[in-house]
Amino acid sequence: GELASSELDCAQQNGQEENGNGVEARQGTELLCVVRALLKKIKRRVLVGDRVLVSGIDWIDRRGMVEDVLDRYSEIAEPPVANVEHLLVLFSLDRPKLDPLALSRFLVEAESTGIPFTLVLNKADMVQPEDIDRWKEKLAEWGYKPLICSVSTLSGIAPIMGLLKDKISVVVGPSGVGKSSLINALRDDAEDHEKFEALQVSEVSLRSGKGRHTTRHVSLLRLPGGDGLLADTPGFSQPSLAKVMSATLGELFPEVRAKQEASATGGCSFANCLHVGEPYCAVGSDWDRYSHYLGLLEEVRKREGVE
Ligand code: GDP
Ligand code: ZN
Repeated sequence: GELASSELDCAQQNGQEENGNGVEARQGTELLCVVRALLKKIKRRVLVGDRVLVSGIDWIDRRGMVEDVLDRYSEIAEPPVANVEHLLVLFSLDRPKLDPLALSRFLVEAESTGIPFTLVLNKADMVQPEDIDRWKEKLAEWGYKPLICSVSTLSGIAPIMGLLKDKISVVVGPSGVGKSSLINALRDDAEDHEKFEALQVSEVSLRSGKGRHTTRHVSLLRLPGGDGLLADTPGFSQPSLAKVMSATLGELFPEVRAKQEASATGGCSFANCLHVGEPYCAVGSDWDRYSHYLGLLEEVRKREGVE
């Protein structure tokens, strides 16, 4: 029919829908919407997580038209979600072993998004308490305070739940660390599945002539006990560092920021200091992650040289 011939997007309005005559609040009502052609012409793609203005709402058939996309708080590409307010950077203490360099890459990528994030170390059941303490000490030097959990025993899961309350969140991390397991543990298993499905915010693409085609599918799961929404698809399992620039790479290391703030002169003497031996550098080389920094600096500069 007519609907199938155009791209269909189903976005959630979080209880605030503009119906053309004013704002109506109908919490939890899901509408199947077409996107106004004009919006597509100016290439404003509607993303999962977007807050949108909807007109012409038919409350019986639960349909409407997306008129406009409101300004985004944030936008990430992997998975494509708008307005993400918190990232959970998940690593495991064992199986796979916690690799410091891989962790640094993820932390730098997370820092580069500008979105608040929390580092979570999973599989606490696989290691000795001393191992956990060693990691905590090391990470404190890096400027991070990780949460420790085990999705298997559910220890440490409650604080994570508290963190995600009333926010849109995405779990990121390398493969095998327990991202899918964590997402499953966080969703409210007490809720019946049907209700869950009804609350999913989905992105569906239908094109006539090409048959049914579903684009990369992301859903936001409603978390129990609040308005929290969690992407059911984990994010950047391979950080691209696409938004990282050599000139500002140092700022993505908390310990570098701390060194600069602590220096008597208020930072390095050169504004564009790369901390690779320049005179009067406040950062220097005497810190645990300096080799990580140098490696990433080289990688980013290489990419910039190509650009
Ligand atoms: P993902 O690739 O990051 O999504 O990881 P998965 O959620 O698929 O988990 C990878 C493997 O780790 C699975 O076999 C899980 O059962 C296991 N796993 C996840 N969390 C834990 C945990 O806390 N402890 C232990 N021992 N195994 C876990
Ligand atoms: Zn410097």
